[in-house]
Amino acid sequence: MMNRNAAYARRYGFPQRVRIVEVGPRDGLQAEPEFVATSDKIAMIDRLAAAGIREFEATSFVSPRAVPQLRDAAEVVAGVDRGRPVRLTTLVPNPRGAVAAAQAGVDAMVVFLSASESHNRKNVNRSRAESLEGFREVVAIAREADIKVQGAIATSFGCPFEGDVDVGAITGIAKAYAQMGITHVTLGDTTGMATPPLVAERCKALRREVPESEIALHFHNTRGIGLVNVHAGLAEGITIFESSIGGLGGCPFAPGATGNIATEDLIYMLHECGVETGIDAIAVTEAAAWMEGAMGRKLPGQAAKAGPRLKTSALDAVATACG
Ligand code: ZN
Repeated sequence: MMNRNAAYARRYGFPQRVRIVEVGPRDGLQAEPEFVATSDKIAMIDRLAAAGIREFEATSFVSPRAVPQLRDAAEVVAGVDRGRPVRLTTLVPNPRGAVAAAQAGVDAMVVFLSASESHNRKNVNRSRAESLEGFREVVAIAREADIKVQGAIATSFGCPFEGDVDVGAITGIAKAYAQMGITHVTLGDTTGMATPPLVAERCKALRREVPESEIALHFHNTRGIGLVNVHAGLAEGITIFESSIGGLGGCPFAPGATGNIATEDLIYMLHECGVETGIDAIAVTEAAAWMEGAMGRKLPGQAAKAGPRLKTSALDAVATACG
């Protein structure tokens, strides 16, 4: 079976191993109306770290007025069990956030802007150029504290206000990032508008025009093809994917935007396609089930509900086989 999976990965030119970044604690929770207890946020990270996930977008050092859900950013970072080799990245919208993130001891800061001008204005109330200009101070603060800065590009595959986003907008921002020394670039599909051809086009263009950048992909399952887009990214040789446990998430500023691809579903697909993650898939499905309990509702992820593919049932355990 493993040979079959590995042969499949080779046939499509997939990387042997990829990194998964769990964004549930930030992207997954930021739009939740009810405050999620700090202890649950920390337990979420610790459980997933115990399952083998090493990278987390842990929180955002944003104004507590803007995003009250993440007002406990420093406590979350301080509370995570650092006995495991976890890497905690946090969103940083401005220099004030950068100072707080540095004080909290994060491993990396993520600056972000939208590829589309309208979405950026709606999201952070400034132009793309103003956003980029503002990142210089964040980079300076991070550099002073010897902390890496990564860049994210929201609405990389389409904008709910403008429609298609030109690929040149993506490469242009990536170049501006690179000039500031930011060479980890995450393409975010904020509103679930990515398609496999767009993924291929954008990855190829970035490789060609900004070869120094390392690309990460962040998909939402808004239109049901989040994992197909991962498949397209794997075929381009991408080795970093972001997802959230249970498929938690959604962007409050994007009409109709639903959750991220679910971490447990992503791991299931990767392993079954012969791509290693170093993560215990069963332990992650258990964490997803725990998360549903903590949130008090069903979450969209599917792998945790059905269980492992080869989990068999006794013949008399079900009344009849379903079509
Ligand atoms: Zn997301």
